[in-house]
Amino acid sequence: MPNLTAGIPALANQGMTAKGNDAQPGNRARPEGMTAPDSYLTNPDKVAAMLDSLSVGKVVELGTSYGGRPIRAVGYGAFEPIDRRSTHSAAYMAGQPEAFFGKREKRVLLISSAVHGAEIESIAGVMNLISILERGSDLDGVEWPGIAGGARRLRIVIVPIANPDGRARVPSDDQLGWSADETQRYRHGADAAGTPLEWRPACFVPHPQILAERSVLGGYFNDAGVNPSQGMFLARDISPEAHLLADLAYAETADCYLELHSCGAGPLFLNGWGFVPAEMTAHQHYIDGAWRMKMRQRGLPAPDGIRKPLARKAMGLIGYVYHKAGSLPLLFEGGAGRRYSGENVHRQIVDTYLTLFETLIEIGVRDGYRPAL
Ligand SMILES: [Zn+2]
Repeated sequence: MPNLTAGIPALANQGMTAKGNDAQPGNRARPEGMTAPDSYLTNPDKVAAMLDSLSVGKVVELGTSYGGRPIRAVGYGAFEPIDRRSTHSAAYMAGQPEAFFGKREKRVLLISSAVHGAEIESIAGVMNLISILERGSDLDGVEWPGIAGGARRLRIVIVPIANPDGRARVPSDDQLGWSADETQRYRHGADAAGTPLEWRPACFVPHPQILAERSVLGGYFNDAGVNPSQGMFLARDISPEAHLLADLAYAETADCYLELHSCGAGPLFLNGWGFVPAEMTAHQHYIDGAWRMKMRQRGLPAPDGIRKPLARKAMGLIGYVYHKAGSLPLLFEGGAGRRYSGENVHRQIVDTYLTLFETLIEIGVRDGYRPAL
């Protein structure tokens, strides 16, 4: 396998000077109403332009979607090659996990956004993160010293639009204005008669979608009708997005793979997926709890109580990434808006993602993402 990140120069100690705490989330002015501010950056052309303008992050093109659109990643922190002498599962069979993981200085956090192309909230989240990693402040100029400072002790790799085909099919940059009908059409699609589709079973059966049965192909899918979060057991030629993400996790030996989604019930973590070691699941819940606590402290919505683990008898992309790359798999559903109140919902949605990233960076620096070898 080609090393997708070979040749990326060392980026540690560049830029990003942590400053004071006076602009911490919760202390800012939030003047905008329901119109999306420029900082709610979800437009693919504007994402591409911002990636082209970065001075700290190193941008690479991982490959192209089924529809021929570039899938790009940006890395912060030095890429550290490792001496890999085995595959993940074989290394554990030998009792020598270090034969897969090797040794290096920094832990690696990999984030993929908009795996489903109409879940555009997550794009706004990661583009604000990229702004912080570039200059210490988000796209509204708010400084996040916890993110900027902690990030220098990690390597962070971000795929802002993992499913560009699906994103290109959505003729809007702001989900807060969508009607229920539009939400279903953009996210899930519509059948041959034009009736909007529900999330289940239509986003999963048939798979790939039969394009002739869809008058609107939802943003969930690439142009071949593949749902990338379930696409890794399909061939690369029709499902390049899922394979590129798994390849990237493998090439990076990502310690954590955070897959960003969004839905009306969010924000929330979905933990307890099958085929992942119990200690990984425990760490998922630990991170979930730390994020919820921060959310409540900042007056942002967080789920109450202990969520029942999802029963799963087959694995999706996050489980596949664990088995291929050894990464702690995390699936986060950002909120589409209905759980927020007030006139600053775009800002609250961005704050939700940034609070998630801040939590994850703090834990990555302090505790790590995987059990010690
Ligand atoms: Zn999704």
